[in-house]
Amino acid sequence: DAGGVPSPVQEMLDELHTRVRDVDAGEVATYIPALGKADPALFGLALATQDGHVYTAGDADTGFTIQSVSKPFVYALALHDRGLNAVLRRVGVEPTGEGFDALRLEAGTGRPLNPMVNAGAVVTASLVDGDDHGQRFQRIIDGLSAFAGRELRLDHEVLASEERTGDHNRALGYLLRNAGALRGDVNEAVGVYFRQCSIVVTARDLAVMAVTLAAGGVNPVTGRRVVGADTCEHVLAVMATSGTYDFAGEWLLRTGLPAKSGVSGGLVAALPSQLGIGVYSPPLDRRGTSVRAIAACQELSARFGLHLMRPA
Ligand code: GLN
Repeated sequence: DAGGVPSPVQEMLDELHTRVRDVDAGEVATYIPALGKADPALFGLALATQDGHVYTAGDADTGFTIQSVSKPFVYALALHDRGLNAVLRRVGVEPTGEGFDALRLEAGTGRPLNPMVNAGAVVTASLVDGDDHGQRFQRIIDGLSAFAGRELRLDHEVLASEERTGDHNRALGYLLRNAGALRGDVNEAVGVYFRQCSIVVTARDLAVMAVTLAAGGVNPVTGRRVVGADTCEHVLAVMATSGTYDFAGEWLLRTGLPAKSGVSGGLVAALPSQLGIGVYSPPLDRRGTSVRAIAACQELSARFGLHLMRPA
């Protein structure tokens, strides 16, 4: 806002928020019982630009657990700490066409198919720097905080709920260890993943995290480098092909933006060298994507011509 003159971006965001707020479809996830308490009316929208401006509308400062939106950022940390080839040996990059929690590993290699599904995220979390699980989680929360530009914290109620109902993820952990994809104690490895999912963020945080990837690894609000530009390129590529699981094809078709969804209703989308988008709205469609996030990103993309495949 330059001297009280409303910016066209802010006006567009407000107008979009008002319209998409009325979209009334989808279901709040309840398989992690604490997530089921979320108010389905919540709707936060944030857009951060590469020059460090952050525009918000609605409930953009409401905290919620990051869930699977953590996966691309932890993948970035693993790539930074280990290098692309070492990470590729352990986690593939092929889309699954299946849901986030599919119990399937790559035929032949035993690797998880990609880092955006739970199986891949559990292995990815085991690859960040640290001598033990405690240090690796510290690396993860510090790294995500650097992406967000503020110190992030855990939601212990959601974490406890997630641990109580996490047998499917433990089963994935045992499947991974049986295939030789994960070493050591399964509960500890899956425990790091549960904690990473229980980190609290806002839609504003997600927009800043996304624009940090779009900007090649320097957080434009803090000016601090988090990861290298090559890492961002790799993460955005995998988000484009696998970020919304079995919806990734249609998502890319409609929005043209690399993105990642999460079961609490968060979503990040990024346009390289331009901007990051963060959305929070708990009701999900049947593939686990926030219904209002789909509507908002599709409209933003159309209105501003953001589709990456769009001929100039
Ligand atoms: N913690 C959730 C789970 O593992 C994350 C899933 C998601 O956001 N899609 O089930």
